[in-house]
This record gives sequence, C-alpha cells and structure tokens, in this order.
Amino acid sequence: MRGPSRYLAGLLLVVATLPAAASGAPATVYLNARVWTGDPAHPVAEAFAVSGERFAAVGSEAEARRAAGPEAVAVDLQGRRVVPGFNDAHWHLPARRSARLDNAGSVDEIQRRLIEYAHSLPSGSWVVGRGWMPTDFPERRAHRRYLDAIFPDRPVVIRDRDGHQALANSRALALAGVTRDTPDPPDGRIIRDGDGSPTGLLQEAADNLVADLLPPLSPDDTYHLLLEELAAASSLGITSLQDATDVGLTDNERGALERAQAEGRLTVQYRAAVPLEPNPTPEQLRHAVEMWDATRGQLLYYGFAKGMLDGTVDAKTAYMLEPYVGGGNGSPFYEQADLDRDVAAYDRAGLQVELHAIGDGAIRMALDAYQHSSEVNGPRDRRHRVEHVEVPALTDIPRFRALGVIASTQAIFATPDVSTLENYAPLIGPERAARAQAFRLFDDAGAVQAFGSDYPVYPMDPLLGIYTAVTRQTRAGTPPGGWYPQNRISVEAALAHYTRDAAYASFDEGDKGTISSGKYADFAVLSEDILTGPPQRLLDARVLLTVMRGRVTHRAPAGTPQDRSGQTTHAEPVRVH
Ligand SMILES: [Zn+2]
Repeated sequence: MRGPSRYLAGLLLVVATLPAAASGAPATVYLNARVWTGDPAHPVAEAFAVSGERFAAVGSEAEARRAAGPEAVAVDLQGRRVVPGFNDAHWHLPARRSARLDNAGSVDEIQRRLIEYAHSLPSGSWVVGRGWMPTDFPERRAHRRYLDAIFPDRPVVIRDRDGHQALANSRALALAGVTRDTPDPPDGRIIRDGDGSPTGLLQEAADNLVADLLPPLSPDDTYHLLLEELAAASSLGITSLQDATDVGLTDNERGALERAQAEGRLTVQYRAAVPLEPNPTPEQLRHAVEMWDATRGQLLYYGFAKGMLDGTVDAKTAYMLEPYVGGGNGSPFYEQADLDRDVAAYDRAGLQVELHAIGDGAIRMALDAYQHSSEVNGPRDRRHRVEHVEVPALTDIPRFRALGVIASTQAIFATPDVSTLENYAPLIGPERAARAQAFRLFDDAGAVQAFGSDYPVYPMDPLLGIYTAVTRQTRAGTPPGGWYPQNRISVEAALAHYTRDAAYASFDEGDKGTISSGKYADFAVLSEDILTGPPQRLLDARVLLTVMRGRVTHRAPAGTPQDRSGQTTHAEPVRVH
C-alpha cells in the first residue's frame, strides 16, 4: 500500500495558497485533473474554472483558463480523480455523544467499551451508547443483566444499530418506573421475561420511557456536536446533506445550524425535514411552506416532510406482505386512509413527502398514497420519496418510475456482515433476501435512486457506501463474489446515485450534482482513481480536498492518514467565509 504523504505533498503546496471565495476574489482554475463530471453529455474533463460559488467552465485547459481570466489562481491537481461533491440523501444529526458499540461482536466487548467510555463522564451520570446488534448477545437476546453486571447503580441505556430498540439496565428502568405492571405504550413493546418482568429491551416507542429521562443538551453542546459532524462530513467529500429526522430539527439543532450559517461555519449544504403531521392543520402546512420559501438558495433550507410507516427487519417491526420466517409481522404506523389523507394534504401544499418504508407491505402503502395524491391533486413534478425501500415486492418496482417516486436507498445497508447473514436474511428467507437492497433492480427499472448513509445508524463515508454497492461484500471481501451479486452496480452508477440523483431528489439538479458550468462548485479530489482498478481502491482512497460552493471545506492534513475506520473523523472544522 502506498503511504499518503508521498502523493499529498505537491497538492498541499498549491492548495495552501487558495483564496477564500469572497466576491471580487480572482477565479481559480484547476488543471491536470481527471474529472468525472456526472454529466452524461460531457462525461469527462481535464480542467475547470471556479468563479465565486460556481463553476465558470469545465472542459479543456484552454477553456478553463479562458473563463478564469489572467488573474486566476492555478491549482495543479497532478492527474487526480475529481468527482462531484457527495450528497448524502438520508442523514441524521446525532442527538448526543455516546459510546460507539458498532461491530462489537460480543457482550464482553460491549461491556469493555461502555466501561471505557464511562470514565470520560462525570460519576453517576447516564451512560449512553449506540450501535449494538442482536447478534452481539447470546442467543441474540439482549438483556439488562449484561449491563447490570458492570453498572449496578448507574443508569445505562444503549440503542441498537438501527435505532429502533434500546436496552436499559435495571437502574434506568427503576428511574423510569418501568415494572412488570407497566403496559406497552402505543406503537411500542416492552420485551418481558417469562414471569412478565421487563428484560430491559424496549422496542420502537417504548424506548421513550427511558430516553425521556436523559438530561438535555445545552445549545452550546449541540453547536459543538454539529461542528464536529460537519467537519467529519467535509473530510469525506460530502458537500450536501439531507436530514431525514422525522421529528424535524429541535430548537437547539435549528439554533446551532443557524449559528453555524451566520458564523460561516456551515461547511455543508443542509436540507432539513419537517415532520409529517397527522391530519395537518392549514397553519402547519403554511408554516412548512413558509420555512421553505424563506430559505431557498441558502445553505440551510427546507422543503420536505418526513413520516414513518414501519420499523426494521432486524427488529421484526418492518411491515411485510407475508409474515417473517418463523412467524410474526410488524404493524404499519398508519391506516392507509389516514396516510392517503395526510400525504395528499402536504402534496396539495406543494411540499415533497418522504416516507420511511422498509417492508414490502409498507412500501406498497407509500406508493399507494403517492398514487392517490396524483389522482386527487392532478399532475405535478412531485418527486415524493420512499426511504430505505429495503424489500420491495417485484411488482411494485416499476411503479417508482411510473409515479415519478424516488427510491432513497442506502448502499451500505447491503453490507453482508454477521447481522445481515445471521439475522436479517433468515428472518425474510431467500426469496425476499434476493430482492433486498436490490439497487440493480431499481436501476434496471429506470427509477431515480438517491444514495444516503442513514448516519449515525451506519458510517457516513460515501466511498464505503459505493464499495458496498459495487461489491456487496464486507471490507474484508466476504462473502466471495458478494451477497446476491446480481444486485451489484457499477462505480459510475453508484457515483451518480450519490451525486446527481441525490440532487434531483431534493429538486437541486439545476444547481448541484454534476461538475458543469453554472452549477455550484461542489467537488472532491481523491487520492486514488476509483474508476479504474479493483474495488479495493474505494477503501484505500482518501479525500484530499473538498470544495463546497467554491470554498475549501476540507484539505487532508499532511502526513496523517485519514481515519475512515469509524463513524466520525476528527478533522479540524474549517471556517468558510
Ligand atoms: Zn434514517
């Protein structure tokens, strides 16, 4: 493997002299590049010019120099691969700092990480973690006893990787007053032992019984959490995020984002959802439209409503047309008639709707609701979306194109790790597993497919997502040939889903998504040419430089390897002006 510092040195010398993209500043011309533009009409270029926030020319060196003018600053990219800035179409701002339990693999490892993390907290305070999987526990049964063993007196709650269930210890249950006499809340389940006492596992809405007790973050806590996450996103080449949180932004989060924008520290274009309210009032709809109108073109903007139709396969809460293998099924969170009414109300107001739907039953409900909207409200460019759309019925796949509905998929969900192979796939059985995370089927059916990460459920690294879509293997290259390899797609197709198609999914294709003259100058310079050579290059590649609307938002620190192993990196936030 080549060390990063060798090929970084030259690039860093030139980018260190880059000016901020202030108005009146000279243009910048980027030369000697291998540009994948994402524009099918002009797929490749060797140079481009950036003037202010936008690309002024994309093409040959002569064209770029001419557009940039004699005063332009020249940057020699030394033959590096350049791609449009990544647009994560489904992302969440983490609610709080927590112990990372991803890929723990065993109770011992979960306990070890929690103990280590707890050392960094004030004594007696809540210990919060996230990222475990059922397969981490003996017989896949998470139980409070494993947390009581290490924290008998201190409240602990750890959320699973998918965010649809949490495990609380006995102290946390006691503080929440959850006993064998506590009834299941609506839309939630308290898992119980044979004698009726809670195991500590709280599914769906039941986890609020404990989560509501967590101490709130101060506005300053949230602001610093945000800056850390933005820096991580920029370091991975991300220039746009679409925050899919169904409850919308909290006051703290909105405050943090507005503060970051005002202080020039919002390094990513940030589109945030408003909640899909049940039976919305005219005031609620008007407010959603006003927020959108008031923020068009800004870095922080709105324009869509997010709702939830079901849970997840791993928790058996996704709503399937047929029961899970071994019995049981999830229940949809809506009656179809209520869903039709609510979606049509947002649709009539001109808003985009996105619905979380994972099981084939929930996906069909979403498509039926969108079809109902077009029938009652008439033709319009609506671009409603189904989020995750994990296990569609084969007969429903052509409806995406026919209805103009976007398949908002997460490439990294196809990671064939132990949870996928030993929990997810057996729960749905081989016929349904063969159409799970079936990126190829959507492409073949002509649907618009927008890629996102669902961070912090999964890592936000787009190159890791693309690797997964291309190989359907783990980072270790297992299983040989890939998991349901007929659903693999090409690097170029995956890149388009993470850039051009994600921009289309937010109505931003006129401004973003390809490296084209007139669009925002959003791009990433990579250390490796990911379009040639083996897929391993996607794992080895580093983002050397990220530019968002003409401003440098990340440059790889010299000599230090980029941390792409975990959920976040610790790059310094870059101030943009
Ligand atoms: Zn999500």
